[in-house]
Amino acid sequence: MDKLLRNAIDSIEIGVEDFQSKDGRRALSAVRNVHAGVLLLCKTVLWQHSPDAEGSLIYNKMEPKKRADGKIEWQPNKNKTVEVFEIKQRYKLLGLTLDWNKLDELTKHRNTIEHYYLTTPEAVVKEALANALPLINAIMRDHLQANPEHEFRTACWTVLLENADIFAEIERECAATFDKLEWPSSEVDFPIKHLACPRCGSGLIRQQDPDNAKPNEIAFACRACGDDQFDSGDCMEAALAEEAAGLFYIAMTDGGEPPIAMCFECGRTTYMIDAGECVACDASAPGSCSACGDPINVNDYNPDYPGLCGYHAHQWQRVERE
Ligand SMILES: [Zn+2]
Ligand SMILES: [Zn+2]
Ligand SMILES: [Zn+2]
Repeated sequence: MDKLLRNAIDSIEIGVEDFQSKDGRRALSAVRNVHAGVLLLCKTVLWQHSPDAEGSLIYNKMEPKKRADGKIEWQPNKNKTVEVFEIKQRYKLLGLTLDWNKLDELTKHRNTIEHYYLTTPEAVVKEALANALPLINAIMRDHLQANPEHEFRTACWTVLLENADIFAEIERECAATFDKLEWPSSEVDFPIKHLACPRCGSGLIRQQDPDNAKPNEIAFACRACGDDQFDSGDCMEAALAEEAAGLFYIAMTDGGEPPIAMCFECGRTTYMIDAGECVACDASAPGSCSACGDPINVNDYNPDYPGLCGYHAHQWQRVERE
């Protein structure tokens, strides 16, 4: 187990050295090494909780093997160790918790960076390391009863701490650009935690005009790669889907209306039912039906027949066809 812990720490330290290098090609290996190191830390925990001295919980496959005396017994296949989803399952089994969102973020960054290779923005690496720090801290202190500031070389641990501070500061600056935003829905919050750059995957998203108050007029920009040309409505739609995932799940399983509908104007799933408006374009509540006076339900509103409820739009359509 000590060897596993040593490997984990080495991997993270090498990652931090890659990060400090001026050579842009090492950005990828920085994130890969830190990610691998965090997974090794998780495996160290599984090793520690294994029911035997061989760390069987870190292997994902048991195989029948023949012993020297000819008897058959089940042994772990030591070539295959657990992947992220198995780590999560086994943690659950052991009653241990970890901020899995942070690990998912880190994995997401590693995967995004694979596609960049030579052009990874430095800020994306900083973000990945900032996500790794609380994981390293929690696993080492809470699950391994080890002090990271003693286990890591001071230089390395300081870089990780300082980087996280800088990252948090930029994150605060980005968030401040939305201070004046007037968010119309009380059922679903402004999805600030889920905004992500479609180009580099960074969550450091700001709005270009900090004085703008209208969600449908937001022009997003990325603080990591600098991209300010991507489609803000699409970015909002993706973030809202994550923000409201729980509510969509409840609507699907317990019945009832989900809080966000597909917008009849722009086609994105960004129409907030409770607010009666789309947060990606200027579509607003279709009002009441001029035939029956009922409020028009956005889910069966037909923009070809403005001012009619779904039922009367359908009736009118039939009249026209005859
Ligand atoms: Zn970006
Ligand atoms: Zn819309
Ligand atoms: Zn009607």
